[in-house]
Amino acid sequence: MTAKLIDGKAISALIRADLKAEIKTMVATPGLAVVMVGDNAASKVYVRNKQKACSEVGMYSEIHMLPAETTDKELILLIKNLNSNERIHGILVQLPLPAHLNEELVIANISPDKDVDAFHAENVGKIMIGKPNFMPCTPAGVMSLLKHTGIDVAGLECVVVGRSNIVGKPMAMLLLASNGTVTICHSKTKNLAEVCRRADVLVVAIGKAEFITGDMVKPGAVVIDVGMNRSAEGKLVGDVDFDSVSQVASHITPVPGGVGPMTITSLLCNTVTAVKSKKT
Ligand code: NDP
Repeated sequence: MTAKLIDGKAISALIRADLKAEIKTMVATPGLAVVMVGDNAASKVYVRNKQKACSEVGMYSEIHMLPAETTDKELILLIKNLNSNERIHGILVQLPLPAHLNEELVIANISPDKDVDAFHAENVGKIMIGKPNFMPCTPAGVMSLLKHTGIDVAGLECVVVGRSNIVGKPMAMLLLASNGTVTICHSKTKNLAEVCRRADVLVVAIGKAEFITGDMVKPGAVVIDVGMNRSAEGKLVGDVDFDSVSQVASHITPVPGGVGPMTITSLLCNTVTAVKSKKT
């Protein structure tokens, strides 16, 4: 392996230590409510990780586990109660929701001031115009990894593979805001390997295990792997084929221990931001 490892766990620990110190000085304890509907095993793990992370930095958190048959009306009623709950500064609805629920409607009912995932259309719009209330968690985590590694994307060719509302699109916006020259690829992109090979910074978020291989990467590129997939053996693997890409790239994030811990760290940062920007 020639690439340097970008250690998301270590960088995340540094940021969380700063956050913990800041929270100690705050009058109001930041509070996060996590809402989960149904019995999705992966979601349960994510929710528990978020609760643990909150308690480690001295934040208040509450988990609302609702049964799978919960209706839109019941879920929205809970969200409205959380919107007016003084103890709660951030609300997160764990996605995906069961298919019978209207995800868009549910998110639209979260107060934009407490929407720490930055999924509400108002917050998405603010990201677009470069005046974010909250930073989108995973893309903000990626930007933070780049910053802590001393990589300035200004003027660099940045290629984002994936155009989801959660990762790909906001990722492209943040790279653009930092003056990267940004290309977004998706499943209909022609000559994907060729486009990827142009990248000085390649961010991959497609949900396909070990899809990006060494021959698709420019020598010396920085490669950020957002993907989280289970291999046939049950191992957690990224969207990037670590073994071949790490022979070509200058820097690479591992999976696990790369982007994953940063996403939760961004969520904690956003909850603190929500307290600080609270209108009284
Ligand atoms: P989505 O399924 O919502 O989006 C996947 C995107 O990848 C789509 O835009 C799709 O294109 C594109 N895509 C799929 N196949 C290809 C292909 N063969 N070539 C090029 N583009 C392709 O996924 P998410 O964005 O939500 O998540 C992506 C990955 O990141 C997943 O593995 C997920 O688990 C992980 N993830 C990790 C997080 C973390 O904290 N580390 C947080 C969030 C997600 P099209 O639009 O054309 O269909």
